Amino acid sequence: AEAGRPPHVAMLVTPGMGHLIPLAELAKRLAARHGATATLITFASTASATQRAFLASLPPAITSLSLPPVDLSDLPPSAAIETLMSEECARAVPALTAILSGLKNTTRLVAFVADLFGADSFDAAAAAGVARRCLFFPTNLHVLTLILHLPELDASVPGEFRDLAEPVRLPGCVPIPGPDILSPLQDKSDPCYRWMVHHGRRYRDAEAILVNSFDAVEPDVARALRAPEPGRPPVYAIGPLIKTDAADVDTDAPREACLEWLDRQPPRSVIFVSFGSGGSLPAEQMRELALGLELSGQRFLWVVRSPSDEGAVNANYYDAESKRDPLPYLPQGFVERTKEVGLLVPSWAPQIKVLAHEATGGFLVHCGWNSVLESLAHGVPMVAWPLFAEQRQNAVVLSEGVGAAIRVPDTKRREEIAAAVREVMAGEGKGAEVRAKVAELQKAAAEGLREGGAATTALDEVVRKWTGGGDD
Ligand code: UDP
Repeated sequence: AEAGRPPHVAMLVTPGMGHLIPLAELAKRLAARHGATATLITFASTASATQRAFLASLPPAITSLSLPPVDLSDLPPSAAIETLMSEECARAVPALTAILSGLKNTTRLVAFVADLFGADSFDAAAAAGVARRCLFFPTNLHVLTLILHLPELDASVPGEFRDLAEPVRLPGCVPIPGPDILSPLQDKSDPCYRWMVHHGRRYRDAEAILVNSFDAVEPDVARALRAPEPGRPPVYAIGPLIKTDAADVDTDAPREACLEWLDRQPPRSVIFVSFGSGGSLPAEQMRELALGLELSGQRFLWVVRSPSDEGAVNANYYDAESKRDPLPYLPQGFVERTKEVGLLVPSWAPQIKVLAHEATGGFLVHCGWNSVLESLAHGVPMVAWPLFAEQRQNAVVLSEGVGAAIRVPDTKRREEIAAAVREVMAGEGKGAEVRAKVAELQKAAAEGLREGGAATTALDEVVRKWTGGGDD
């Protein structure tokens, strides 16, 4: 009788559209390919309109439910986003245990999947008697390797990463200069550093780690992780999992206007500028970016948010809507001077459709991993402008590792911005190499997702273990 029911997978989504979107995509793939059903368990703190609309758009095999609100009022206002997410998850363990126990009674619950800040929720899965506990890592193999090595780096690296004279070298990884190491690791006195070390330990409790990446974009570290290592769960590169269907949050009229605008631009002539679901720039950088885009002479489509100066750089993270009207922060006359070549979209754009549009020829991106994968899947070369989290590290991997992006120097002067944009869009040297590399990666990504491809085979293997067909 058990075998007659569809396998069910429970997934815990820590806050952020960047976590929700790929997990939902994983659920869709499990449903479509393996006949599974899934429950996405979200936190009450992230019940934004954007998130609600997204959840409502998912196919019927995927349901969602929200944990009851978790009290975080004792944490200081300065608490880092990683601390908030980790605390929220740890404190939700009792409620999550009850939810998982319920799902166990009503479904054929074969596995529990937590994302990168959610490893403490394995305790809930264990208490509820869910046999298979997996980690879904929505970023890449480089970041995973770093986090897995944190317990030992914590013991061996004295002082702050940013003060290291030599870049951090890990097996198969592009050497990462100290200042580019994940932002939550940059101040060891901050509780978020301790949390990350803690996660590095807890990841080892997973039965498997599923990573939203693919070999061609980080081949050496993929090879290093394929070698089994005692005490480390097997790692499966199952990406790129990106939003595939058009019918989602992006359907209201003003947003579609940007696609109509793209329809009127020449092929590969527009650079798309966006900083993810939560990123915004300090006012000074926002002005410099405007002037840099103007100076580049390229057409641009820019998702503009009000500046980040008042509050954390990721203040928009829990809610994708821009807090204030961003247009008054732009340089005087900018909108008027660029109206023939540029389009500004407040807060949110249908990013996948923009990247898929033939008029789009480049992506100035904050290097959030979902955005990077979406860019690669559509063959769009990147200008890297990292902000926070693991974005600086991703920028190193993309620009100095695989060569899929040109990075804007930290000084962020308009001339530097213009030069990077021009090079990626039309340059004959580095730009041409980047464009060729990205075309190659686009093919490799598609290859992996085909029948018999690496990503498909990897996920098949995971599901076989979940459903009892595996040999472990
Ligand atoms: N996104 C979008 N429109 C926007 C901004 C973001 O559709 O205007 C989507 C984007 O396609 C991606 C996700 O939101 O799927 C952002 O995830 P990413 O990992 O790139 O960055 P994060 O938001 O986590 O910083």
